[in-house]
Amino acid sequence: MNDDRPLDWVNAAFMTATPLIAVLGTVWYAWNYGVNRLDVANFGLMFVLTSIAVTGGYHRYYSHKSYECSKAVQLFYLVFGAAAVENSVLNWASDHRVHHRFVDTPEDPYNILRGGLYAHMGWIFYKDTRDRDRRYANVPDLRKDPLVMWQHRWYLPLVVLFTFALPTWLGLLYGRPVGGLLWGGFLRVVLVHHTTFFINSLAHLYGEKPYSLKDTARDSWWLAPLTFGEGYHNFHHKFQADYRNGIRWWQFDSTKWWINVLTWTGQAWRLRRTPEPLILKARLEVQKQAVAEKLAAANASERMWNRIHARLDAGAARLQSAHAAYLAARAEYRHRYDEWTHEMRRQWDETLAARRAEYKAARERWSGMMTAMNRLSNPSPQSLLTLTAFLDVARRRFF
Ligand SMILES: [Zn+2]
Ligand SMILES: [Zn+2]
Repeated sequence: MNDDRPLDWVNAAFMTATPLIAVLGTVWYAWNYGVNRLDVANFGLMFVLTSIAVTGGYHRYYSHKSYECSKAVQLFYLVFGAAAVENSVLNWASDHRVHHRFVDTPEDPYNILRGGLYAHMGWIFYKDTRDRDRRYANVPDLRKDPLVMWQHRWYLPLVVLFTFALPTWLGLLYGRPVGGLLWGGFLRVVLVHHTTFFINSLAHLYGEKPYSLKDTARDSWWLAPLTFGEGYHNFHHKFQADYRNGIRWWQFDSTKWWINVLTWTGQAWRLRRTPEPLILKARLEVQKQAVAEKLAAANASERMWNRIHARLDAGAARLQSAHAAYLAARAEYRHRYDEWTHEMRRQWDETLAARRAEYKAARERWSGMMTAMNRLSNPSPQSLLTLTAFLDVARRRFF
């Protein structure tokens, strides 16, 4: 992707005209014919269907193969994915796989280092000049999929039918075809565009990096509800094969919930989850790296450096083994509970509670150690405060 790529006039015209029609047209229509709740419902329905087709289909199913699903679900993804007007899934997934592989480099199609606006939508204004074979070399699985190739071939008619004709027809059912076209068609497509684009821009600019410091991807809890759960982008870049982006039950990830509903109804299966120990390991690595950076900034002596590193490694290892012991006890408890006698169940209740308490205690000791070590950061390395913090870390028994 070079700067000298020619402008893509079709994309540029569409990306400029749709927001204008969406805003001016909807305001004009509301002024003359009022706002009807069925227009709003049309918008809401089309917004949810096309967003899910992009996040659950284009992204987590086709680009990452993070689960398997029925042909009916695939067809839904392809039809409503086309209605998001973000290209055929073959092109979308190919670009997205390049993004993951070459993130933050000139090869990345929506490279954030070229600026937020470029990553958000600027990149779409330029023609893709790669030759066909090179472009599709990373999607051999999709090229073999007849449904994907059908969508690729019929992409434009599908766009016309499902982006514009369908919401107009819905509008016709309640006597407001123009309202349907403006609300469910234009306004909706513009909002789906920008919520998708937020992942390429905002999710690479704002938020935390709990799982990896290697690239610009970030976790933003506030971006998650706007993007059907895709705001947990740091986790996603680290563990891209996971069908979840927000892995905790309390993290808003409506695409994960959608896939769970598909599973309960027999429409999806083989959901890929990252093993818990790997997730913990990634988090600990990031925290250890943060401490190492502070030690470097504080000009710690080599002796102190080695001592603290040894403590960090030992602490992380203890926490990981307490975690593994708890997971093993929990798995045993879940899988064998039905076979156990009343007395065995009572004993296992106690064992599981003990393992959970040990894990919780290890977590608390680790965060105590992190708090103490993070105090090492100080603008003046020789200050008394830094010295006291060093001594504290060196002497205290965390584990
Ligand atoms: Zn990304
Ligand atoms: Zn991805």
